[in-house]
Amino acid sequence: ENRIIETTDLPGDSWQYSLRPHYLREYIGQDKVKDNLEVFIKAAKLRKEALDHVLLYGPPGLGKTTMAGIIANELGVNLRITSGPAIERPGDLAALLTNLQERDLLFIDEIHRLSHSVEEVLYAAMEDYALDIVIGKGPSARSVRIDLPPFTLVGATTQVGRLAPPLRDRFGVICRLEFYKPEDLVLIIKRTADILDMAIDDDGALEIARRSRGTPRIANRLLKRVRDFAQVAEAATITASLANDALNRLEVDSCGLDRTDRRVLQVIIDKFGGGPVGLDTIAAAISESVDAVEDVYEPFLMQQGFLNRTPRGRVVTDAAYRHLGLPAPSEG
Ligand code: ADP
Repeated sequence: ENRIIETTDLPGDSWQYSLRPHYLREYIGQDKVKDNLEVFIKAAKLRKEALDHVLLYGPPGLGKTTMAGIIANELGVNLRITSGPAIERPGDLAALLTNLQERDLLFIDEIHRLSHSVEEVLYAAMEDYALDIVIGKGPSARSVRIDLPPFTLVGATTQVGRLAPPLRDRFGVICRLEFYKPEDLVLIIKRTADILDMAIDDDGALEIARRSRGTPRIANRLLKRVRDFAQVAEAATITASLANDALNRLEVDSCGLDRTDRRVLQVIIDKFGGGPVGLDTIAAAISESVDAVEDVYEPFLMQQGFLNRTPRGRVVTDAAYRHLGLPAPSEG
């Protein structure tokens, strides 16, 4: 299977960690988010207070973890990284929180996957910088409160709709990361090429950018694969035609759709007359998890105008038929 489009981290992706920008001025794109955060960070530093809790949401690979690291650097505080599924019991969270120093930043990735019991403990921690712990069992059980140093929680999620409202309400700053414009991806691709010491021209960078589904992680991954083709072809510079050949061979099409994206559309057309059809049914029909369809394929297909969400299910658009070279029903 061609998993190059997979937006979550792949085993071969650890090289991308070294590409992460460290400060706001190096973070390309997402100007609205950057402008807001810059103000809040400055204000928190002036007041010598912990920054308000920040929620970052958006599809995988858009730079949420990167942004958490940047916030910590800009604040000049320590960063602790964990994830929702990794915090199994309230005690795990208590251990993390009691080890923080004043104004430290705790990053919880996939925060929508916290268990209920952990979430309950997190409420008081976020609101009052305190831990309420129950000691003992039965009638002799009592609750003790432990004070915590003021800290900043940065939560990241791909599924903001699945966050419990009381948790969402405890974030003072909520930022939505958007798919990147091709111009921004061009800058990211050139920056990566520079770090990896490879030559790429403007058109080559634009070709990769257009086919990276608005996602820096995928842009970097495609660039690295294109470089392999360039090296084998003994080309000194990555050009548009070289990038085009390489991406066609990787089965990434002109809009950045991969085989699975196209299968999603094709299955809805072939088996369900173009929809409406439920998400679970789509996932089952292409043997993918519901999470993958909802986090990775659907947002991009919708953004490209190939898929619509209706109350009765997902519907393929005329543009999708055209993209697949099929006559659209409304035109036939
Ligand atoms: P997420 O946490 O949203 O899944 P990451 O923060 O891990 O995404 O970003 C994926 C990769 O993309 C990072 O390794 C980084 O190199 C690159 N990246 C993300 N956002 C930017 C950006 N704004 N500028 C430059 N590189 C970026």
